[in-house]
Amino acid sequence: MHPDLEHLMVADRYDRQIRDLRKKKATQLDILAKAEARDQAARERLAGLVASIDANKARQRELNREVESYEARRRSATRILENGTGDAAAAERQLASVAEVLDTLETELLEKMEALEELESERTQAAADAADAAAFLEAEKAGHDGKIAALKAKFTAILPEREATLALLDKTILGRYETLLSRRGRAIAEIVDGSCSGCQRVVRQQNIADLQRGLMYACDGCGRWLLPPDPG
Ligand SMILES: [Zn+2]
Repeated sequence: MHPDLEHLMVADRYDRQIRDLRKKKATQLDILAKAEARDQAARERLAGLVASIDANKARQRELNREVESYEARRRSATRILENGTGDAAAAERQLASVAEVLDTLETELLEKMEALEELESERTQAAADAADAAAFLEAEKAGHDGKIAALKAKFTAILPEREATLALLDKTILGRYETLLSRRGRAIAEIVDGSCSGCQRVVRQQNIADLQRGLMYACDGCGRWLLPPDPG
């Protein structure tokens, strides 16, 4: 194999490791961001339910006060009718209208009580979810910095090795390597079943023979340097 090609293979391996480290870092940041979003959403849902429960209870207190006041009116109208004093017809009308209002109030009160039961059960679930989300976030946070630092340490170890390898190449090849790396993700390709692994272009037998003789050859399709096929 051409010595430059051997250096390019080593550089390619470092660059794949670097890309892998960047991917891992992005994944790690994503996991933390998702854990934070989940925690936030769970807390907001719980707070929303607590607010709904408070509003429901406040409305129930209000309804109970109204029921009490209408029941007092009913008692006074009933007294008028029982004692035979005062305006009996007005007392009858009052009883009828009070009964109607009480019916409406009691219906709403029952609805509120049913809704409260539902809300309480949702809150129990939401509180459990919020606790889970908080615990997950805490665990992720605890491990996060260490994971990022470990990835960074690997990156820092690879970088000078990569530089030292690239320093062995002449400027033209180096420039081409960096261009291919940034445009195509990789600067070299394997020959798989007679074709370039980067772009699938068929490689002529003559070019394969040249590679095996130790020459360098770039794919006609994508420009990546091709590695001679494994003789084995
Ligand atoms: Zn190609």
